[in-house]
Amino acid sequence: MSWESSIEYERMINEGVRARLGGTHSADLVIRSYDFAAIEALQAADRWDDAGALLAADARRLQDAGAELIVLCTNTMHVCAPAIEAAIDVPFLHLADATARAVVDAGVRTVALLGTRYTMEHDFYRGRLAAHGLDVVVPDEPDRTTVHDVIYDELVRGIVRDGSRDRYLEVIERLISNGAEGVIAGCTEIELLVGGDDVRVPWFPTTRLHAAAAVEAALAP
Ligand code: GLU
Repeated sequence: MSWESSIEYERMINEGVRARLGGTHSADLVIRSYDFAAIEALQAADRWDDAGALLAADARRLQDAGAELIVLCTNTMHVCAPAIEAAIDVPFLHLADATARAVVDAGVRTVALLGTRYTMEHDFYRGRLAAHGLDVVVPDEPDRTTVHDVIYDELVRGIVRDGSRDRYLEVIERLISNGAEGVIAGCTEIELLVGGDDVRVPWFPTTRLHAAAAVEAALAP
């Protein structure tokens, strides 16, 4: 959604295809990229049905343009996943499923979820993780506000601050103290700020996990 992470998705998917197919191979993509300010306004106004109608119509256009698999490159907007899935005939690779599989494979049961307020507080994402048998914990206030505000005030604007990384790492330490065995970077921009080397428990970066799952699904025999 914000191009700051969309461009990482495109790079990772291309790198994945090159790793699998070699030579000059790259990903065969049809992309719908938005003016994020318009999306942010829909989110802030809780206009999720309007956002769903927009994404569903565009997913259908991607399918009509030849896409054989649809990926939505943001955690938050998966609140609209049901509308998208209802509009298309090709598979939709849900980000929470790709993430949950990685968490389960790592042997982690209680996992912390960092993301936008919508992702941390609504059920569309936590419930999907729980359906895979995971116990999901999210930060308490005021940590939730900190995590949300850094995304919208800094990361989607291309601003990466050491001080914000420190604040995130403090939030993560409190989550570990509360029982988290691993942490999901459940917002595609968080990986611009925090990496696995910064965190002392298993770290699940959703952009990387989703991009890898997309390559797997697209190249599956
Ligand atoms: N990209 C972020 C996410 O993964 C938040 C901004 C957006 O809505 O796209 O949730």
